Amino acid sequence: MNKLETLFKETYKVNPEFEYSAPSRINLIGEHIDYNGGMVLPAAISRYIKALVSKRNDNKICFKSTAFEGVLERNLDDLKYDAKYDWANYGFGIFQTLQDDGYKFKFGLNILITSNIPLGSGLSSSAAFLDLICFIASDIYNLNLTKDDIVKESVKTENVYCGLKCGIMDEAAIALGEENKCLYLNCNNFTYKKINLDLGNYKFVVLQTNKPRKLTESKYNERVDECNKALNILKNHYPSINNLCDLKPEMLNDIEKYLNDQILFKRVRHCITENDRVYQFVEALKIKDLNKISSLLKSSHDSLKNDYEVTGLHLDTITEEAIKAGAIASRMTGAGFGGCAIALVDEKIFDDFANKTSKAYEQKTGITPAIYMVDIVSGPKFERKL
Ligand code: ADP
Ligand code: MG
Repeated sequence: MNKLETLFKETYKVNPEFEYSAPSRINLIGEHIDYNGGMVLPAAISRYIKALVSKRNDNKICFKSTAFEGVLERNLDDLKYDAKYDWANYGFGIFQTLQDDGYKFKFGLNILITSNIPLGSGLSSSAAFLDLICFIASDIYNLNLTKDDIVKESVKTENVYCGLKCGIMDEAAIALGEENKCLYLNCNNFTYKKINLDLGNYKFVVLQTNKPRKLTESKYNERVDECNKALNILKNHYPSINNLCDLKPEMLNDIEKYLNDQILFKRVRHCITENDRVYQFVEALKIKDLNKISSLLKSSHDSLKNDYEVTGLHLDTITEEAIKAGAIASRMTGAGFGGCAIALVDEKIFDDFANKTSKAYEQKTGITPAIYMVDIVSGPKFERKL
């Protein structure tokens, strides 16, 4: 028995029966436009959440995580949201959402989860958790959920059960993950294409700033509100638009006059130019134009820094140092205000790159970052029967 299996046995007094896993995700480009009807380009990466599971003879769903103390258990017929269940609400929420949608469960489960996805750092550990539990439920109870169903049920759980405003990008990126492909996703109507993401020697690297997260949620909501305010004003001038990403770069001069507010204008300029960069990025990927890819990632970061103002010292420093240390491109990923950035690095120089970036970042911020190369991988999986 490995350590995790032993912990399962100690916790639940029975042996685990099945092992499952789900990856996390990065977003390559198209940041902060998922809630503005834009296009995004995320990919599932090789940092995983895993679960060991066994069936129970009663009606109970039990959760234990190696990240937290204690076991949390509830009956399948009594899963109403309750804040006291804290992190396990993501798990209980999946069972409740599925039951609300008509699925029936005849027995309970013991679940132990463990993860090497940093929690609350923008790699979507929450979506990985939700997608994983939904995948497990589908597999064990033979619900035959499609990948799109898993996205739908997981997003519904985060939005309705947990009450968190979020788009579909994270759950979709993970559930629909495919080796060496990224997801070209329209956040407005949930249509998507898979795009090849094989850049030879060049690999994606995650730069985890390890800056404690503070303002993320309030600042995120502030940006959502600013965008809604701008959209309401602009609808008077462009009656056919439904969201900011329906606007085009050539309209920016007029938009600046109509808004007559520099902050709102900068927010809108980010959305419009970022959406345009996603289209250009996809074209550049098709022909593996590394110069273009690199310059688009740089303009994306600059726009998030100067126009959308969601980067800050830690993300700006780590991306600048990554370029100095040999990355051909680098930008923040996720909501910003700390969290993670990504870089594109020749794998032959990775060790030296990581060393240099880490030292320089630590010198400037006093924080040791975590830097790791990742593969682009497939979505949630049944790993093995134990
Ligand atoms: P992100 O999704 O960017 O990592 P969130 O704040 O959305 O950040 O999600 C983090 C939360 O997800 C954690 O605080 C916890 O409630 C839950 N979570 C994620 N991974 C785990 C885990 N391995 N064990 C328990 N809870 C987890
Ligand atoms: Mg999350």
